[in-house]
Amino acid sequence: MYRTHTCGELRASHAGQAVTLAGWVHRRRDHGGVAFFDLRDRAGIVQVTINPDLAKDVLDLVANVRFEWVLQIEGTVHKRPAGMENPKMETGEIEIIAKNITVLNPSKTLPFMVSGENDLPDENTRLKYRYLDLRRERMTRNMILRHKVVKFMRDYLDKEGFIEVETPIMFKATPEGARDYLVPSRIYPGQFYALPQSPQQLKQLLMVAGLDKYFQIARCFRDEDLRGDRQPEFTQLDLEMSFVHRDDVLKVVEDLYTAMLPAVAPNKKLLSSPWPKFSYREVVEKYGTDKPDLRFGTELVDVSEVFAKSEFKVFKSALEAGGVVKCIVAPKSADMSRREVDALTESAKALGAKGLATLAVTAEGPKGTAAKFVTPDEVEALRTQTKAGEGDLILFAADARPVVNKVLGGLRLIFRDKLNLADKDVMAFAWVVDFPMFAWNEEEQRWDAEHHPFTMPQLADLDKFDTDPGSILSDAYDMVCNGYEVASGSIRIHRRDIQNKIFQMLGHKDEDIQAKFGHMLEAFEYGAPPHGGMAPGIDRLVMLLADEINIREVIAFPKNQNGRDVMADAPSEVEPKQLKELHIKIVE
Ligand code: ASP
Repeated sequence: MYRTHTCGELRASHAGQAVTLAGWVHRRRDHGGVAFFDLRDRAGIVQVTINPDLAKDVLDLVANVRFEWVLQIEGTVHKRPAGMENPKMETGEIEIIAKNITVLNPSKTLPFMVSGENDLPDENTRLKYRYLDLRRERMTRNMILRHKVVKFMRDYLDKEGFIEVETPIMFKATPEGARDYLVPSRIYPGQFYALPQSPQQLKQLLMVAGLDKYFQIARCFRDEDLRGDRQPEFTQLDLEMSFVHRDDVLKVVEDLYTAMLPAVAPNKKLLSSPWPKFSYREVVEKYGTDKPDLRFGTELVDVSEVFAKSEFKVFKSALEAGGVVKCIVAPKSADMSRREVDALTESAKALGAKGLATLAVTAEGPKGTAAKFVTPDEVEALRTQTKAGEGDLILFAADARPVVNKVLGGLRLIFRDKLNLADKDVMAFAWVVDFPMFAWNEEEQRWDAEHHPFTMPQLADLDKFDTDPGSILSDAYDMVCNGYEVASGSIRIHRRDIQNKIFQMLGHKDEDIQAKFGHMLEAFEYGAPPHGGMAPGIDRLVMLLADEINIREVIAFPKNQNGRDVMADAPSEVEPKQLKELHIKIVE
């Protein structure tokens, strides 16, 4: 038997017991002839004391032991003498007095320390030695949290009558707006499988199959530009239900997350229950984005009316061109330095603004770049509408509506971080609904699906296909949290005629539609039930729950920011023989 207990489970109640432990040497100290090891396994860390009265060969061996050696220790659990307890360790009331030590495996000198959070090397080194990085307490904790989240989801959905079904990884292109990863076929020269960008088609076919309520912890593959912290493969809780309307789907997910939070992350609080629900239009007008951070106010206010007669050129020309004047109020920021305002102006420009007008509300009257252009009446009206008080700073954007929203939405987040406006322990979940069905693709001069091509348009809008496609709303919804989109989904098209129409709108030719989606369209002719679903991302959720700032911290073996696995060194070249079998030639 390698061990009788784990290191982390021992408590004062075990005092007097003989135990055998196995684990890694986390730290070692030597004090007046006595050696102390902190022995670590996944469950935690325990102090092992090696007194000088042990046999000489054991003591000789102990003298050589270094960090991260794997030891087996036989000893007895002792309560630490009064005053010697370590309240910072879960096992801090006890220590193990060793009787015998066996080295199970030594370790080379480590590329970086596993104990402690300081002095971490750059991320590529961590990823190259990910198996060591994962030994760190924080990373182990993240992996355990992820396990708990997924386990909770499985158990909960099982109780709600969902069944988990695995769908193929090697399939056919399933568009979600990204490029496909392709897998060449050896048996069918020149033909390829595509890795699914999501199981979208398959879960809909499961509904046609009558499975009613499906879920899967699904891996999705999207060959996208590596902006932000995207990963080429990521995990979703994919789910689909038959005979449901939008709110039935939202309820399942809202109830699941509401029940899950106290079970997996008791330190996190929901901002509100039930979750707020916004229309896409409303949320963009109020927060400048369709993935708002609701943990703080500082909302966008449309003050076009206030400035309807303004002679301030910046405002006047924007309004005359059909644009808007909007603002946000940064609390207690009236005394911001010139340098800070300049930096904000640069940020505003990077977000698309031509400049940034500011108005500081001070006891001596308005200050800031807009001060000399606004009348006392306008200031009065502005203060009434925005509720700006003395000491606040008003920031304006005047331009076309989408530009203004983007600029102020971005500035709002800058103030969030600058003034610490958001409580990190709050999870501000919300729904965004009533998205536009199509987005105009300027480059390719055609309509794209805003969500994906299987999304149901709102029935009231069905007659606008030929007249005003841009105004058609879809039955799609997003779930947002703390400034991230954490899920999206929709009620699906279950009628072949509508599905066909959408494919045509998106510019697919008839032969194309048949070749790409013939199987779906045919399935819809055999009694497809009305259905809908969604897919909350798991990586991002665990990231937020773990207080991490990128998803790589909650994925065991992620690709780095350049899309490489630096541990295994992938992607990598393959043998010419393999290429030949696959009928592939590399063109330099
Ligand atoms: N397949 C969609 C996605 O991956 C989610 C859904 O519509 O259920 O975003």
